[in-house]
Order: sequence, then C-alpha cells, then structure tokens
Amino acid sequence: MRLSALSVDLDSLTHYCRIQGLPDSLLDERARGLLAEKAIPRLLELFAAANAPATFFVIGADVSLPGMKRALSGAHAAGVELASHSYSHDYGLSRRTQPEIEADLARCEEALGELGVKPAGFRAPGYTLSSALLKAVAARGYEYDSSAFPATPYYLAKASVMGALEVLRRPSRAILDSPRVLLAPRTPYRPSLEHPYRRGDAALVELPMAVAPFTRLPFIGTWATSMPWPLVEATFRSLRRDALFNFELHAIDVLDATDGVPPELVRQQRDLTVPARVKMERLGKLFAWLGADRDRVSVLEAARRLRAVV
Ligand SMILES: [Zn+2]
Repeated sequence: MRLSALSVDLDSLTHYCRIQGLPDSLLDERARGLLAEKAIPRLLELFAAANAPATFFVIGADVSLPGMKRALSGAHAAGVELASHSYSHDYGLSRRTQPEIEADLARCEEALGELGVKPAGFRAPGYTLSSALLKAVAARGYEYDSSAFPATPYYLAKASVMGALEVLRRPSRAILDSPRVLLAPRTPYRPSLEHPYRRGDAALVELPMAVAPFTRLPFIGTWATSMPWPLVEATFRSLRRDALFNFELHAIDVLDATDGVPPELVRQQRDLTVPARVKMERLGKLFAWLGADRDRVSVLEAARRLRAVV
C-alpha cells in the first residue's frame, strides 16, 4: 500500500505575528481576510489541477475571520476534509491539563459544527504533543492525530530562533517540544497515550508529517517552496519507500508580500518574499509526482486504511 495525503494548516497571519513576537494590531481588514480571499481559492485550484483530495486543519477561532465561513463551506463542498487544528492555536496547549485541552477541542468542534462538520482528525499547534493532549484527542473520539514532526534540522532551527528572539527581548509565543520527538517513528504508528512519541496501543493512529530518512529533513510546504530545487527533488525521492507520504503545508505557502501582508511580518517570514506564482508552480509539480505512483487520499482516509496495519 502506497498512499499520499496533502494537508494544509490554515494558520491565519495572527498566529505568525504571535510566533514572531509582533502585535496582531499590524493586521488590517485585508490581511485578516487573506486566507479566505486568496489562500483557500489558490489551494483549491492546485488540488483540482492535481485531481487530489486534501485536508484542511482549521483553527476554530479563525472561522470567524472575514469570509472564512464561506471559503470553508466551499472547500468542504469541493470534497476537502475539515479537521481540527484546535480552537485557540495556543502554542502552550500541550502544557495544559486534559480537561483544559478538551474544552479547547470542544470549542473548535462547535465552530466546525456551524459548517455542518464533525472533525475526525487533529493536528496540534506548533506540532507539540503531550500525554494530556493525546489523551484529550482520544477521549473526544478522534480517529487520528497528525502532529508528530520528528525533523531534527527543524527542531534545532526553532531552538536557535527562539533563543535569538529571547536575546532581542521579543520573546516568541512558540514553545520547544521535548527532544523526545526526535526519536518518534517517522512512519504511521499506534501511539502510547502515556508517551505519544512511542509506540503503544491507543485506539487512534498517529500519522507523522513527511520527514526524510537519515537526514530527518522536513518535507513540508515552506521548505519545498523555498529550498534549492535539486535538494527538494532529492529529498522527495528519498521518501519513495514510505507507505504514506504525508505532505503538510500552510496557507501562507501560497501567499506572498504583494498580497497585502504587513512588511514587518515579511521581514521575519522570509518565505513570503518568494512570489506566490513560483511557489504554486513548485507545489503543482510535487502534487503531480505524488499521484504518479501512489493512491491519493485525505488524511482521514489514510488513517482508516493504515489502521489495520500499524
Ligand atoms: Zn498551526
């Protein structure tokens, strides 16, 4: 069985401001509506061109942004799975108690419920899991979690950026996961509810995001759209033996500085300086490759097919 799944975390620019230690007040009405007006239509265009199912991980609080309800309903009608990326996108969610986390998940379910959707999958803000978090996800009946991201270079880069912001006295709201994540399986597994990055006997399955074998390079959208193309191609090929290619993107991967992103944010988030057209061309090529010798599925369908074998 060889599957490929495309998923997009629909983080609005508010969350990028928070992670970069910038005030949300930088965002005007246009910037607040960018996901609904620009990113979601561009993503749907890419999925349609590749004839690929896809999954959006939706932040509950962002459902009330300008135009979002309409954009998400349109995506759902076009066959996109809508899953949960929490309500508040609190980077410290994994440090809360299980009841606090369950309350956050319930609010996101309510927001998606307004669109007639009951989410079956979850991705943690900042890709950070804890026992309390995974227990909350399991207790609320989710069929899968897709948060594990055992990417060594990403982990080291995040640690150094957070350290640098600390020195600049502009602390990031992000938190650094336990280094234990670096030992997590790279391929789908049934996690332990006590130790989410170890194999266990949970009822749900964990679908880690694509990370290359050996180098542990993260094969995610931001990386695939901004790294030298020969490196992207080589990393893509190194993943060919995996049963699941779980390609994770962010809405920002199809946006650029000319779309109306505040310049202060562009200065921090350098991938926004790459033209959206160039990024979409790359993604279109990768989406086509992913369908060449794999069954394309939503993340939920991947979880259902892999459940029996993990
Ligand atoms: Zn996110």
